Amino acid sequence: MLRPIVKHGEKVLQTPALPVTTFDDALHTLIDDMIQTMYAAPGIGLAAPQVGVPLQVCVIDLTVGKRGGEVITLVNPEFVEREGMQLEEEGCLSVPGFQATVPRAQRVVVKGLDRDGREVVVEGIGLLARALQHEIDHLNGRLFLDRLRGLQRDLIVRKIRKMRRAGRW
Ligand SMILES: [Zn+2]
Repeated sequence: MLRPIVKHGEKVLQTPALPVTTFDDALHTLIDDMIQTMYAAPGIGLAAPQVGVPLQVCVIDLTVGKRGGEVITLVNPEFVEREGMQLEEEGCLSVPGFQATVPRAQRVVVKGLDRDGREVVVEGIGLLARALQHEIDHLNGRLFLDRLRGLQRDLIVRKIRKMRRAGRW
């Protein structure tokens, strides 16, 4: 089932998500819905707070579902390694229409659990490293806008406020 994606301004996007403790049907349904919603958007990553659920769950698929079996599901993820630096343009399904260059680590290693609670370790370099950092930021209540310099961030936030007042956000 597709779930609506919440946008910048919703409190759930600014609130740290809670760890998952129960690996039940409700969690599996949430994960399946998130994957479907990410592909439909389309996007390469989605975090549970973006569908209004304050849990530490995210999904990533750099192929947007074009190749089977490439989706990464992470529950309660945390960094175990972070190194190097990359500067690339980044966007977010919760901040549609805006992109900015965001500094990120070039390589990360993330430890987390899969949908059944089994431990998984994911190494990401380049785009995958960026996606992992972007989604884990969501789970900590942060958007890519929060990683921009103040002036750049303020400019985008002002535009969003204007759009919201006009009923276009
Ligand atoms: Zn995002």
